[in-house]
Amino acid sequence: MIVVHYGELFTKGRNRPVFQRQLQRNLENATDVKAKLVEHRFFLDADASALPKIEKVFGVSWFAECLDAKRSLSGMEDAVARLAESAGGPVKVEVNRSDKSFEFQSPEIVRQLTRRLEKRGVALAVKNPKAVVHVDVLRDKAVAYGGKHAGLGGLPVGVSGKVVTLLSGGFDSPVAAWLMAKRGIKNVYVHFHPHRENVEEKSLKILNLARQLKPWTLANTVYLVPYNEFTLAALDVPERFALPVFRRFMARVAQQIAVQENAEGIATGENLAQVSSQTLSNLGSIQDAVKLPMLRPLLTYDKKEIIGIAEKIGTYDLSRQPYLDCCQSLVSRHPATRTDARHLEKLEERLPDGLVDQTLNQALRVTA
Ligand code: ATP
Ligand code: MG
Repeated sequence: MIVVHYGELFTKGRNRPVFQRQLQRNLENATDVKAKLVEHRFFLDADASALPKIEKVFGVSWFAECLDAKRSLSGMEDAVARLAESAGGPVKVEVNRSDKSFEFQSPEIVRQLTRRLEKRGVALAVKNPKAVVHVDVLRDKAVAYGGKHAGLGGLPVGVSGKVVTLLSGGFDSPVAAWLMAKRGIKNVYVHFHPHRENVEEKSLKILNLARQLKPWTLANTVYLVPYNEFTLAALDVPERFALPVFRRFMARVAQQIAVQENAEGIATGENLAQVSSQTLSNLGSIQDAVKLPMLRPLLTYDKKEIIGIAEKIGTYDLSRQPYLDCCQSLVSRHPATRTDARHLEKLEERLPDGLVDQTLNQALRVTA
């Protein structure tokens, strides 16, 4: 079996049952086996092939392959002996009695097990063991396990609601989506593209990014939104302000999609000062275009930290592939570093009415 423990943090409040149920569903989804809740942990009737899947489920604090032992000294002894054999060296036994009704306290259980195992010829060591074998005594059974695997932490995807996430072909936004999922958020992706035909094929890179993220994010809805109308309309906007005006346009479109999808925020891969236009003033002017909160999980990350995560989650190699990034055509060599939302609003009067709706009418909603 595999035992899965979740963080203590989310197990306290009123939301506990909701969180537990969501984690259970997510574990079952990932592994295709039932996850049984027993005394604040899940048991899955699965073998080692499920370990890498559980490693990608947010909300897990640690997990381990374990043996189901009878709730008796002889049952525990058998289980520890089996684990000791596969350890290939002396083991140290650690006991945790989470069911206090068991007749012996933990140190006494260790003593008794030690006596039995020594008699049986199992090599034990308190100092420098080859491995630690843990025994947890529960109400109806005991479990024994060797190596603990660290989980990702975070919250089960689905407990924190939904956001629309602006996904580009770059390095940052896939990492931003992953971090949103880490806090229990379900992403709905929106990508702006310059294509006039065969949109899905030409957006393969974006769909592949969404697919790569899916084991963690569980998300596969992607809106492919053309921005040609915007580019044409924005010819009248002074070059220095084209980028902030475009970002406000993306935010407005994303907000409309959020309404359709019951999402409560907009996430981006924006960062503070990674490029010259990412100033507090500009981030504020973009937020000013929409009511929904704009969430920027990478705000304080160094590029190195972002790349580190991208490598870990396998988006780095996908993001590196060449792709026509829309912002290239809109970034002037000297984009404004200070903008004022009222001033941008004035410039936006030059854009045709209904540009957002017209754009949305041409959006494709696809499953990655
Ligand atoms: P990324 O690596 O995510 O592209 P970046 O550092 O290149 O980020 P920008 O290109 O300036 O930064 O974009 C900032 C954010 O705006 C992106 O992280 C993404 O959330 C959003 N964005 C940019 N271009 C697009 C696009 N074509 N479609 C959807 N969102 C986009
Ligand atoms: Mg980019």
